[in-house]
Amino acid sequence: MQGRLAPSPTGVLHLGNARSFLLAWLDVRSVKGQILLRVEDLDGPRVRPDLIEQTIEDLKWLGLDWDEGPLIQSDREKRYLSVFDDLRNKDLVYPCICSRRDVESAAAAPHTGDEGPVYPGTCQDNRAEVEERIRHGNLSPCWRFRVPKERQVAWDDRFAGAQSFDLARDIGDFVVWKREGGPSYQLAVAVDDVDQGVDTVLRGDDLLPSVARQVLLWEFLGQAPPLFAHVPLVVGADGKRLAKRHGDTTLASLRGQGKSANEVVGLLAWWSGLATNLKPVQAHDLIEGFQLKNVPAKTIVWSGDWPEHEKTPTSGGG
Ligand code: GLU
Repeated sequence: MQGRLAPSPTGVLHLGNARSFLLAWLDVRSVKGQILLRVEDLDGPRVRPDLIEQTIEDLKWLGLDWDEGPLIQSDREKRYLSVFDDLRNKDLVYPCICSRRDVESAAAAPHTGDEGPVYPGTCQDNRAEVEERIRHGNLSPCWRFRVPKERQVAWDDRFAGAQSFDLARDIGDFVVWKREGGPSYQLAVAVDDVDQGVDTVLRGDDLLPSVARQVLLWEFLGQAPPLFAHVPLVVGADGKRLAKRHGDTTLASLRGQGKSANEVVGLLAWWSGLATNLKPVQAHDLIEGFQLKNVPAKTIVWSGDWPEHEKTPTSGGG
């Protein structure tokens, strides 16, 4: 098994993404698989290069390790460009000059996916005119992958169960090359996973619909997709994914408050049904006997305070 830890240095690690990384690591380590660390520093406008080092330190502090890396996406821009050129040469992508607002107002059926409204294909339908405008107007387009009509992508998610997406209805033509240049998250992650021999992916379930996009890119690159497991994100008391407004749950801040790595891992383990009590534990000591299927699927709620030792988990444990 070849797995990966793929943090984006858009913020420092907090209890939510730390839990996903711990599970990803245990899932691979428990079958004596290999892990690579990949820093996704091309993933979105909020990337802060100054956080790369801290992200790596946070993972190490938790007690996680890896066999290869850190591999840094920004070192591989040539490779992404060559895949993008192949996609263009095979006419699988088209330029799009729609603004975010255009997309929102043109989406006749207000069908909203994980990346905003499903793109209605405006620029694909007016391709000649769009190319003319790009030539004369000095516009820089983004490039979208044209998803096949009437195609379902289905897979058996190792954690979330059977999944099926209708590409045209649920996903739409998605961006592979950004307006400002450079690969989208979807392109970079698929190219990396293929090139780096990744055959098992465990990550937060906010990325579950992205499988449908990445599978198309895997196919284009001539590889069978990896096994996928998507685990629920930790949420705050309001049910929304953990964020700053839920209090400071960054590992750096917990460390500053005197929490040890083993106490933090103990909380993550207890939340994840890997321990019946809330007590400090080393990540390494959780490897033996780890089975993803024993991790409860229930939502994990951070109430704002470090839980008391005696309380039974609200998130289902054992
Ligand atoms: N870099 C992404 C993130 O931190 C994860 C990408 C992936 O696992 O595919 O959200």
